[in-house]
Amino acid sequence: MSKDFFGIVLGIVQDGGYPHVGSLNMKQQEYFQNAIIKEKITCLGIVDRIEKKSFLIDATPHLPYQLDKLLELSKNPLSGILITHTHWGHIGGLGWLSKEGLNHQDFKIFSSCDNISIIKKYCDIFEFNTNIFFEKITEGNLFHLTRNIKAKAVKVPHRAKGDTFGYVIATGDRKIGYFPDCDSLQKWKGDFLKILHEVDVFYLDGTFWNRKELDSRNINSVPHPLVENLIEDLKDLSVEMKRKLKFIHLNQTNPLLDKSSSEFKKLRENHFGVAEDGELTFL
Ligand SMILES: [Zn+2]
Ligand SMILES: [Zn+2]
Repeated sequence: MSKDFFGIVLGIVQDGGYPHVGSLNMKQQEYFQNAIIKEKITCLGIVDRIEKKSFLIDATPHLPYQLDKLLELSKNPLSGILITHTHWGHIGGLGWLSKEGLNHQDFKIFSSCDNISIIKKYCDIFEFNTNIFFEKITEGNLFHLTRNIKAKAVKVPHRAKGDTFGYVIATGDRKIGYFPDCDSLQKWKGDFLKILHEVDVFYLDGTFWNRKELDSRNINSVPHPLVENLIEDLKDLSVEMKRKLKFIHLNQTNPLLDKSSSEFKKLRENHFGVAEDGELTFL
């Protein structure tokens, strides 16, 4: 483990943010009135202090705040963004890189061939500096972000256009798994368990606690693993494995956002956790 290489959580909620766009909930209204972003949209930063490079996984609409935090810690310019998939909360912030915004140079966007063509279409409406490069990645192949930090894309089932990936970020002996969105764990449970054994921390889609959360929409139309069920499904894992698992990408309705809730207590009693904005994992 080195203090020169690390991952940092830069946001923990689902694509609609918290306060959630259009929310009439009193507490959330208060945040809007006071212009407070209580929780930012799910994002992970990666820093290599030796090579002075830093990366984001996903370009959320909260990118300016997330980049600020990343730069404060890394003192490095942003070197690139790895995209998990093409839903709004994960690419909506790419416009900040345009000429009117960061106007950054010498910069890479990593994703699959299919995702890159979708991203290019989305970015067509903005004016970009020509020095943005797209780097095609293939599922399962390790690629270097820097000399010491490698990444591997793992495909997971999700209803987005194009591909949906999680990433395993690794140095020689430490690894972080980052899987913010997937439809269910059942379809890739074998891979999930293999990766959980390999990594030191595993950030997993914890959008909903249970099915009762969405009264205005059919929860089947927005499939995600349900944390309450996962606690049961994964009950035979060792405590060591459970402690690695931290839920991220929480929906505004998820009671795990409230640390005083009985659901949060139950999660902790079962040795699982919730990702916290600003937490570091040294690599
Ligand atoms: Zn999402
Ligand atoms: Zn998604």
